[in-house]
Amino acid sequence: MALDPRLLRLRGGPAPTGDPALDAAIGESGGDFHDKVYTTRLDAVLGWSRKFSLFQYPFVTACCGMEYMAASANHYDTDRFGAALPRFSPRQSDMLMVVGTITHKQAPVLKRVYDQMCEPKWVVAVGACAVSGGFYQNYTSVPGCDKIIPVDVYVPGCPPRPETILDAIVKLQEKIQNQKHEFI
Ligand code: SF4
Repeated sequence: MALDPRLLRLRGGPAPTGDPALDAAIGESGGDFHDKVYTTRLDAVLGWSRKFSLFQYPFVTACCGMEYMAASANHYDTDRFGAALPRFSPRQSDMLMVVGTITHKQAPVLKRVYDQMCEPKWVVAVGACAVSGGFYQNYTSVPGCDKIIPVDVYVPGCPPRPETILDAIVKLQEKIQNQKHEFI
């Protein structure tokens, strides 16, 4: 039964809002309107849903891959962060993990993989080689994968510990939550 909002107010309920439709809805809820209805921004909902449904594409080329495997296995369990499932198909992934040295020969392949991934997408550079070329200051290595594709989070270390990779995932999730989302 719909209750008059003024009556709800007398019973300790919410004050009338001045909007007849909203006041009617509050009345119909029997006074527990605020327990049933949550208001938020579309941006915040999109950010929340996207940050907890990341699908990784691991682009693994060198020794950092061992640490990446450790981070993905059951002991460290990236599944806890909603970022577990490597897809191995760029079209089904939205989080590119660049793990290891990128040579100039591999650069066009990395670019193609990035281009094939669905939007919106994010990139994590894992390890000194992916971040800056590491100690390979020579003509074969790309001095950082951000010379080829945009990078969202950089993970330092040679190699980085699995905890550092987990920290990068959490940092990326914070970034996704706070960024402006296009409603596609
Ligand atoms: S950062 Fe170190 S461990 Fe990682 S790929 Fe480069 S050389 Fe190997």
